[in-house]
Amino acid sequence: MTRATGASRDVTPPGPQPPDAYDLREDIARCVHCGFCLQACPTYLQLGKETDSPRGRIALIEAMSSGRAAPSGPLLGHLDLCLQCRACETACPSGVPFGRIMETARGDVMASGAGPLAWRLRAAALRHVLPHRQRIAGAMALLRGYQRSPLPALLRRTGALGLLPRPLRAAEASLPVLPRASFVPPEQPPGLTRTVALLRGCLMPHLYPRTHAATVRVLNRLGYRVVFPGQEVCCGALSLHAGDRRQARALARQNIDAFLDAKVEAIVVNSAGCGSTMHEYGGLLRDDPVYRERAARFAAMTRDVLEFVAAHALPALGEVPVAVTYQDSCHLAHAQRVTQGPRALLRAIPGIDLRELTAPDRCCGSAGLYSLVQPAMSARLLAEKVDDVRATGASVVATANPGCMMQLEAGLRQRGIDARVVHVIELLDEAMRAAGRPQTADDPCGAAW
Ligand code: SF4
Ligand code: SF4
Repeated sequence: MTRATGASRDVTPPGPQPPDAYDLREDIARCVHCGFCLQACPTYLQLGKETDSPRGRIALIEAMSSGRAAPSGPLLGHLDLCLQCRACETACPSGVPFGRIMETARGDVMASGAGPLAWRLRAAALRHVLPHRQRIAGAMALLRGYQRSPLPALLRRTGALGLLPRPLRAAEASLPVLPRASFVPPEQPPGLTRTVALLRGCLMPHLYPRTHAATVRVLNRLGYRVVFPGQEVCCGALSLHAGDRRQARALARQNIDAFLDAKVEAIVVNSAGCGSTMHEYGGLLRDDPVYRERAARFAAMTRDVLEFVAAHALPALGEVPVAVTYQDSCHLAHAQRVTQGPRALLRAIPGIDLRELTAPDRCCGSAGLYSLVQPAMSARLLAEKVDDVRATGASVVATANPGCMMQLEAGLRQRGIDARVVHVIELLDEAMRAAGRPQTADDPCGAAW
């Protein structure tokens, strides 16, 4: 198995932001102003304002890109309030690539130097953290120490928490209790003849090591050895959403080198947000003569773990007798268009009573850094989501993205609702373990269960 080296380096090349590879005006011209997207947009449903709808935001971006409007604070505020959830894309009959339009617009604002201070600070902070696995591990170790100390209780008792800036308060409230240890690639059963790579991601190994462990066990059970390329970095989604194309491209190039050098059958991802960005590396680097072909190959090899597993014949599954509801992660449902695979896997598990939410594909308000930078709107969306979950009576909420898991856990915790939040792959792992099959000649993984 390839193990992590822990090496990190700043992958951002010096120099100004490059121009974007896409023609923003062409993308915008596809919008016929029909308004079919409005009822799919979480911020429009909350505020009822055209300027906070997909159609309205496209009009604002068009006015800005044609020079009819300046990138003023109020205008950019409407762009900032967008979750980049892409629910408008699946609702749009004209195929308007809204995610790309928003990323291009934010990138153009940053490239022109007109980005507000908050945007520039956000991009700079991401640049100083995301490429450095050791810095992230250090920050997580500090947080773990904080959570296990008397400090959180003291801050609450004295009211000192309320004095923190709102983003910090939101971060403190939404953090799950960090597990004692971060993810370490496990030993795997011998005799596995096929090989895939798994993206570790930047936060997942520290927040949800159990999800990675379950993913490895499930893939082993399907006959795959799982490798972890040592030089992989953050997928770049947060930088791209923050308008920092240069950093996103630098991260993409490093991941492409790391994963293609690993010579695997597929690149498997258990974080829908990361997988969505990795699927789009081909477009991100399409004007890069050195990486264009490698980026397209990388994108074609990338699979969300649930889509990947659902395409295989499953081994025997044991019973998992729980009522489960499934929250579509936006970047799995709307960006990757994967909605049936996760449900098919859940339905295949004996004992699971799958109860649908009223609005399963509406954003929970997590959306990368959104819950930190737009805490009020994030909280409104989360409150509705928790109401929806409670109405199902489910005791387990399954989803497909660590950000959604964190957000849902926080919402349920704050409302005192006793329900567990898991990644779908964890339930499948539980079912496979419950089957408890003994090892046989054609099932080399049996001993590991
Ligand atoms: S984005 Fe699509 S759905 Fe929305 S107004 Fe434009 S064409 Fe209609
Ligand atoms: S990406 Fe989401 S929040 Fe933004 S305009 Fe589209 S539906 Fe609305």
